[in-house]
Amino acid sequence: AEAFRGKRYAVLGLARSGTATVESLLASGARVIAWDSDETKRQPFLSFPSGEGPGVGPHAGLTLADPLTLDLSGFDGVVVSPGVPLNRHPVTAHARRFGIPIIGDIELFALARPELPPHKVVGITGTNGKSTTTALIHHILKTAGVPTAMGGNIGLPILGQDPLTSGGVYVLELSSFQIDLTFSLDCDVAVLLNITPDHLDRYDSFEAYAAAKERLFAMQSAGKAAIIAGDDASSRDIHLRQWMRPGHESTTILVHGSQITNSEQAEWPALQGPHNGQNAAVAIAAARLLGLDDTAIATGLRTYPGLPHRMEIVRTVAGVRYVNDSKATNPDSVAPALRAFPNLHWILGGQAKTPDLDACLPHLAGVKAAYVIGEAAPLFADILAPHLPVTRSGTLAQAVNDTAAAAQPDDTVLLSPACASFDQFRDYEDRGDQFRTLVHALKDAA
Ligand code: ADP
Repeated sequence: AEAFRGKRYAVLGLARSGTATVESLLASGARVIAWDSDETKRQPFLSFPSGEGPGVGPHAGLTLADPLTLDLSGFDGVVVSPGVPLNRHPVTAHARRFGIPIIGDIELFALARPELPPHKVVGITGTNGKSTTTALIHHILKTAGVPTAMGGNIGLPILGQDPLTSGGVYVLELSSFQIDLTFSLDCDVAVLLNITPDHLDRYDSFEAYAAAKERLFAMQSAGKAAIIAGDDASSRDIHLRQWMRPGHESTTILVHGSQITNSEQAEWPALQGPHNGQNAAVAIAAARLLGLDDTAIATGLRTYPGLPHRMEIVRTVAGVRYVNDSKATNPDSVAPALRAFPNLHWILGGQAKTPDLDACLPHLAGVKAAYVIGEAAPLFADILAPHLPVTRSGTLAQAVNDTAAAAQPDDTVLLSPACASFDQFRDYEDRGDQFRTLVHALKDAA
């Protein structure tokens, strides 16, 4: 591929997607300056394969240097990871000084699309449900025999994956941070699930956060399809504006989670709870637009296996079901989990993103008791104590012991933390993995 022949890029951040970006840019003819402030992440590039023959050695097109100390005149872009907070990182001013765009790997994918065999792109955004819906659409396509790849905020870096054969569909999960780094992605099907307050440390306002998500549609040319779940007011506003754009009225589709009936949903084991009605409604609309028939779609929904750390049923011990919902890192994403099972023992806490649990308080009817851990434990204990018995477990291990001691047969123990994990864990996956390990270590005999 020659997509980037003669181009020059700086790549900041050499974790998984940064590494795939450097490799793919070099392979398609670009010259690259790569950097990570963490020396161990730079190390592999010191003996980077040249790609020319069997030897290893510094690649002709690659320089290891901090782009923030360099004159970037004439560069085509600075590629950063979506984890970089553009609103308070020096890269923003530096790139502006030289008039070059700050982009992400999704933008590079978009720029390289003309080189790919004929294909379609589905882009999915929203505050909650992105991974589920992305994995679900990908699964429905795969089950129906369509060549498909999944990337963006989920799975393997998209630039590191083999291109699909003709007729393939790329299904991309896009956080608002990724959309902020993308300018040329003309999705064949663009999906918005919902918008509720999140990540407000990185946006000036809720409106700015919503506007970031709306740009997914602004990048689409006329005739391309938009699917919007109109279950919240912000999404409905965006639907209205999108529908009023000339050339987009007939291709803008509004769906509602309530279109899914209980008897339909009963057939889909990994898509329980009202929030998954929204995810399924959107996935069905997308699959139809991609030309699948309803029989193929029904098979996909029935056989969808679910994602780890999202309402993942770990094990039943002494009649008590243990559910790992570690991915629920804000109160809005916990709310549906609280309604999905009766007789709950709810483990929550970590690093709070908002100093309240307002989104959860209306859904405590099925919760028997709460067990608080991490930095937010004192705050959450104060908030919940008027409503429920609260145990200050402190650590996840203690919380699993406390719940195992208290729970009766037919109760459910739910880890759905409403918090980021970084005070006690590497990330939410580490937190969920540790929960799984603790639960598997519980003795079967009551
Ligand atoms: P994301 O990738 O957007 O973070 P996930 O699909 O990983 O979303 O789901 C994260 C959590 O959010 C889940 O554990 C679930 O409790 C909740 N959730 C999933 N889908 C929705 C939805 N459509 N609306 C609200 N909450 C949801």
